[in-house]
Amino acid sequence: MNNYLENLNESQREAVLHKEGPMIIIAGAGSGKTRVLTYRIANLMHNNIDAFNILALTFTNKAAREMKSRIADVVGDSEAKNLWMGTFHSVFARILRSEGHHLGFPSNFTIYDTQDAVRLISSIIKEMQLDKDRYKPKQVLSRISSFKNSLITVKSYYSNPDLLEADKIAQRPKIGEIYQQYVNRCFKSGAMDFDDLLLRTNELLTRFPEVLAKYQQRFKYILVDEYQDTNHSQYLIVRALADRFQNICVVGDDSQSIYSFRGANIQNILNFQRDYEKVSIFKLEQNYRSSRNIVDASNSIIQRNRTKLDKQIWTANNEGTKIKVMRTFTEAEEGRFIANSIFDNKLNLQLKNSEFAILYRTNAQSRAIEDALRKKDIKYKIYGGLSFYQRKEIKDTLAYLRLLINPNDEEALKRVINYPARGIGATTIDKLTVAANHYKKSIFELLLTLNQLDININAGTKTKLINFVTMMQHFQIEAQTKNAFEVAEFVIKQTRLIKDLESDGTPEGVSKVENIQELLNGLKDFVDVQKENEEEDSLAFFLEDVALATDFDSEKKDDIPRVSLMTIHLAKGLEYPYVYIVGLEENLFPSAMSMNTRSELEEERRLFYVALTRAEKQAYLTYAQTRYRWGKLVDCEPSRFLEEIDEKYLEYLTVKKPSFSQNKFINEDIFGSVPQHKIRFKKPIQRPPKKVIKQQKTEFNPPKNLKKVSKSTPNASNLFDSKIAVSNIVEHSKFGKGEVLSLEGSGANKKAEIRFASVGVKKLLLQFAKLRII
Ligand code: ATP
Ligand code: MG
Repeated sequence: MNNYLENLNESQREAVLHKEGPMIIIAGAGSGKTRVLTYRIANLMHNNIDAFNILALTFTNKAAREMKSRIADVVGDSEAKNLWMGTFHSVFARILRSEGHHLGFPSNFTIYDTQDAVRLISSIIKEMQLDKDRYKPKQVLSRISSFKNSLITVKSYYSNPDLLEADKIAQRPKIGEIYQQYVNRCFKSGAMDFDDLLLRTNELLTRFPEVLAKYQQRFKYILVDEYQDTNHSQYLIVRALADRFQNICVVGDDSQSIYSFRGANIQNILNFQRDYEKVSIFKLEQNYRSSRNIVDASNSIIQRNRTKLDKQIWTANNEGTKIKVMRTFTEAEEGRFIANSIFDNKLNLQLKNSEFAILYRTNAQSRAIEDALRKKDIKYKIYGGLSFYQRKEIKDTLAYLRLLINPNDEEALKRVINYPARGIGATTIDKLTVAANHYKKSIFELLLTLNQLDININAGTKTKLINFVTMMQHFQIEAQTKNAFEVAEFVIKQTRLIKDLESDGTPEGVSKVENIQELLNGLKDFVDVQKENEEEDSLAFFLEDVALATDFDSEKKDDIPRVSLMTIHLAKGLEYPYVYIVGLEENLFPSAMSMNTRSELEEERRLFYVALTRAEKQAYLTYAQTRYRWGKLVDCEPSRFLEEIDEKYLEYLTVKKPSFSQNKFINEDIFGSVPQHKIRFKKPIQRPPKKVIKQQKTEFNPPKNLKKVSKSTPNASNLFDSKIAVSNIVEHSKFGKGEVLSLEGSGANKKAEIRFASVGVKKLLLQFAKLRII
């Protein structure tokens, strides 16, 4: 055992050693909140608190695993193994497995991911013959999800006139009916979606006091990381469980609350003292993660938010280098800049790919960056894209496995009933769905008694259906004696899934086969690890892991180092030596959809704060002057966040200072968070109207579009000044007319020496000088 308390500062140690009762640790980024939580658990166990009595809730399962391994260093592997640790979803899925029967759910219930849920909703919308343009499945799902996270059941939806009215106004009066159908169908399929895992846990704990008492007794110590992003449903679960012993320790940073769009409620952290009696409050003020420049710059941003708790944060770390700001013409150039910069840093400073992260506001931004990284042969990994388990061939294979564990799983059945093709068409499946609803059975149950039912399906198809059911039953029998890997291997062989893909002979087919083989490798790995830990190696356990896996979880230890790409939302809690925050443009970051109210804008600012505080040594901020958005090339303006950082922390790699739009400041002025002296332009500057240049191509192609663009958008004309030649007479927006004396450099660095009548000879960077040839 190491002397773990030595690795903590005074305030951290106090928080770790604090005995009983409710406690909250509120502190800024990088101050060791997660470290304190980890050591606190180790310390509890060191003082003979049984691992079974501790529940720790984390933001990702990966974070839980890392914490567990640190705790194991202090208390030993075998003790740490028994800790209940993980995300809300994974911990409560586990509880629902053993207690779900109270609510009528089988212990082998399926967990529907978003894709399954959207498919089910689409099918309900189709059956109800609703207009699918008005009822967009994804939108409907997110509405239902927001109900569930606020604990609004179908019944309470119908008794809430405001909600009914809102959906009527949005011309979607049937939302309630879809919600009802969706709940029924999930129930009949023995399935829960992600939100159900929390909603049903709440239902369980409220309706069954004996179950609540059991878990209250069990979890004598509850610890929650990233408490600022809990939603109402999670908040209620924690409150209920902690009610008996009140040994609840939450850590968080209100300035990092970034999930309000998913129902996270910043008030949960702000009201903690009201919710519990005799709360002990701890503050951590020293940042250990980042250079002083980064810490101070982050402070200078977040202090602009009005809604925040007072916190100090400082660091004893070196000042470090300034935050580098890079402006590029296009998003493609932005990508190239990042790839080159990583390449150079690696070379000059002997760094590994894994020391770099690229963070963006929206997933779509990754494409241009990926292109550039590939060209430079820099290995990268995208988090939060389509994860391995969501690829079609993997979902199809898993659907077989899901179905044999839970035959009522309707979405799984629909995926595989005719895959590989066995002549069962869409019409037949529709008929079966209708009949199953009619008989109040699952489709699988219906198929078991197909011959006795009055369904309009011809004899040939009936035989095919019965063959399918017989095959599935056969699999079920095998699953009783085989481990997860053996069952999967058996199913894949019998269904000829790989054979089918191989036969298509395309490169895509080959890569799909490889993926299925990779799935089998994963299964083998799972079985080995479970055996080693003397734990259950059945298929049902594997599927549980998969359903809640994020791509952080599928990371392999022996993987070659890769640059990490992810949205800022996903980067919460993580840290990297070198961080690139890209796309710092108005309407992208802050997002166009988040500029209507002060609170939305403040959340975007918190997001920027989260992004910047991920960096340990060096942060880069980049933005492009033009970017393709929704298939169109648009002109972009630098983000207001760039202007909000005190300039002394920044180093502009291109020009001294970007030009910020006047409008933005007027906006900010209404919000009131920019001091008057910061407003540079007293009079609004007349800017040419913004025009969107229509273009279908995705690559920017300056020479071809030269004329068209410079005519329609004077603002963008400077992009194409490369045509300027010596002895041209040009006009500059500020200096007036002048003659080009000489040219030097190329591309972004091309400069012209010009003699102006007004100010004499000036050297101008063509990419920024607004010049017109006359
Ligand atoms: P975030 O708000 O981003 O989640 P956090 O407050 O949880 O940050 P940690 O991740 O726990 O902060 O700590 C930040 C970094 O500082 C980690 O690398 C951690 O190991 C290190 N650290 C924390 N406390 C100390 C300490 N007392 N001595 C040395 N390093 C420390
Ligand atoms: Mg943390």
